[in-house]
Amino acid sequence: MTDAASVVKKMKDEEVEYLDLRFVDPKGKLQHVTVIESEIDEDFLAEGFMFDGSSVAGWKSIDKSDMKLLPDCTSVYMDPFFAEKTMCIHCDVLEPDTNEFYERDPRATAKKAEAYLKSSGIGDASYWGPEAEFFLFDNVKYAVEMNKVSYEVDAVDGAWNSDADFEMGNMGMRPLIKGGYFPLPPVDHMQDIRAEMLSTMARIGMKVDKHHHEVASCQHELGLVFGSLTEQADAILKYKYIIQQVANAYGKSATFMPKPIAGDNGTGMHVNQSIWKDGKPLFAGDKYADLSDEALWYIGGVLKHAKALNAFTNPSTNSYKRLIPGFEAPVLLAYSARNRSASIRIPWTESPKAKRVETRFPDPSANPYLAFSALLMAGLDGIKNKIDPGEAADKDLYDLPPEELAGIPTVCGSLREALNSLEDDYEFLTAGDVFTRDQIEGYAELKWEEVYAFEHCPHPIEYKMYYNL
Ligand code: GLU
Ligand code: MG
Ligand code: MG
Repeated sequence: MTDAASVVKKMKDEEVEYLDLRFVDPKGKLQHVTVIESEIDEDFLAEGFMFDGSSVAGWKSIDKSDMKLLPDCTSVYMDPFFAEKTMCIHCDVLEPDTNEFYERDPRATAKKAEAYLKSSGIGDASYWGPEAEFFLFDNVKYAVEMNKVSYEVDAVDGAWNSDADFEMGNMGMRPLIKGGYFPLPPVDHMQDIRAEMLSTMARIGMKVDKHHHEVASCQHELGLVFGSLTEQADAILKYKYIIQQVANAYGKSATFMPKPIAGDNGTGMHVNQSIWKDGKPLFAGDKYADLSDEALWYIGGVLKHAKALNAFTNPSTNSYKRLIPGFEAPVLLAYSARNRSASIRIPWTESPKAKRVETRFPDPSANPYLAFSALLMAGLDGIKNKIDPGEAADKDLYDLPPEELAGIPTVCGSLREALNSLEDDYEFLTAGDVFTRDQIEGYAELKWEEVYAFEHCPHPIEYKMYYNL
């Protein structure tokens, strides 16, 4: 469905009661307002809906609060949960007086990034395959309790199992720490929940392919089939919504925070990326790992700007507890065809069409529109400036001797460092006005509040380390 007339027709034909207008705030949380069917006609969809932009954190001040939601008629789907039949539509946020994209609207940034790729002449389409992991807990209290236990034990080697076991004392037939990938039930005891999540996604028209238990003891992943940048950022929001809703229906909660449990794997959102031009895959070639020069330069750009990218791809204080050695998350800014400890992996494939680069440092606390756009801008900067990514790193990077480690740059160690890095290196983002300086400043301001909130709060582990000194 691509135009207003067909949206209106579908609502009438299928007796839909409501249209739910959805948009995303700077932190990547879906927001919505629900409009009754009798209000919806082609004029409504063309003119948009006014709302108070000053109530969205990081947007307008109270004296300039009027903003417009403009439905994107290519993005409709039925809400799978609401009792009254409701169609959902993703919206762009516009300035009401000029009808131009509001520069701090993340979805506008994604659309501008896609347009910028075309205008650069480098490619005409980009494809995105994000892999967002998550944890399922019976009760968030148990996750917190499990971390308290981890402060007490030095070796975290299966001292407890899943959240349910922690509660019930049943330590048998459950995934151990790092033991979740991927035995049959009853060890994998979330089969039915995940299947319901995936089927729900398929029913609303999302392109999905698989689900599985992940490595950590309560961790899971569902597979999204690749798509264009804005489409996949929309898909991540639907993905999170459905996972959290289905979990909730089972009396559980799903979290996308990057490192909920100390001592077990954290939660990544690896991002597979490729560019196509004239119907051909630009990243396939005859260089390292059957990549093209352009793919290697793209990697060069992502590695060069990685520390600034971290402000968008790893935008929580918790993100940096995941980016440590030993948990399949990257630390070093290196690339490899095999290595899961490198920041960029080239997944093995025989098909030139499937040739892609997988950036492994992002996590799902990211706003997907901003994270994907920033990655694309870094990669395009790499291609434009022919940035050499250096030699591939095919060793286990977690085990390198100190003298070899010394020369390899790393991802940021904190959100503070990421925000400082963004301040020093943002011009690759503002090329073609894809991101604007004002937008980056507004975003950083919101994120500094999180840095201060975290840094100003005594942490439980500080009691262990310092209380008795
Ligand atoms: N959970 C790991 C991470 O933090 C990734 C595991 C995998 O390769 O899927 O990135
Ligand atoms: Mg995974
Ligand atoms: Mg992966």
